Amino acid sequence: MPLPTTSKWVDCSLFHPEFTRRLEALFADPRIRGKVKIVSGGRTYNQQKALYTKYKNGRGNLAANPDRRFGPKGLNGVGIWRGSWHMQQIDSWVYACDVRLSGGLKWGTFHDIAEDYGIKKTVPSENWHMQPRYTTEWFPAPALDEGYLIPPTPPVEPVLPDFNAIVAMIHKVGEALEIRPLRRKSVGDPVEMMQRRLADLDFNVGNPDGKFGWRTLHAVRNFQRVERLQVDGVVGHKTWDRMWGVED
Ligand SMILES: [Zn+2]
Repeated sequence: MPLPTTSKWVDCSLFHPEFTRRLEALFADPRIRGKVKIVSGGRTYNQQKALYTKYKNGRGNLAANPDRRFGPKGLNGVGIWRGSWHMQQIDSWVYACDVRLSGGLKWGTFHDIAEDYGIKKTVPSENWHMQPRYTTEWFPAPALDEGYLIPPTPPVEPVLPDFNAIVAMIHKVGEALEIRPLRRKSVGDPVEMMQRRLADLDFNVGNPDGKFGWRTLHAVRNFQRVERLQVDGVVGHKTWDRMWGVED
């Protein structure tokens, strides 16, 4: 996704790749998406020189001298940074952009969000001037490097099962089993319910499919053995109640 700019003349191609990575992530943040555009990007040394000359001749906006040096000194004794942060540095990259907000987005809000992505306002009087680093260090980008870039999904209210209805159903099925117990070859919802319950209790019923097969028979007999019930593989009221912890 290209970075949003206010015109095709805004050059984002000179941004340091890490700066671009941060900007792309920032512009994708749903809190600001569509409400921020880059109004000023990068410039070459010659472009900066032209702006500076214009300014010196009283015909342009304030522009930094491209030959000005600042920051930590290199081996040649002069600052390793030059001119403007908007200008190509000695490493060929640009480390600043100016932005414009719209859609009612407030500067304070924007700055807070941008800081998550390691992009900060560095000139107190210029809300719009944003950088990914200062002279000696990159700003930390916790949203990118600590994994909270993906906006958390809003919490979903847990849907609690209707426990009263479940207990009522267990009783109802239990009563029905008194007349017609579950046994090998029984099929239907009560069988599946029993299979799921046995699986919860760690008895191997295979895939709960509502069919009382050999594996289910084996699980029922094991359950009855463990519970010291009559081991007949038939699930009547008594075995059923014991499965669900219903007191006799
Ligand atoms: Zn700027």
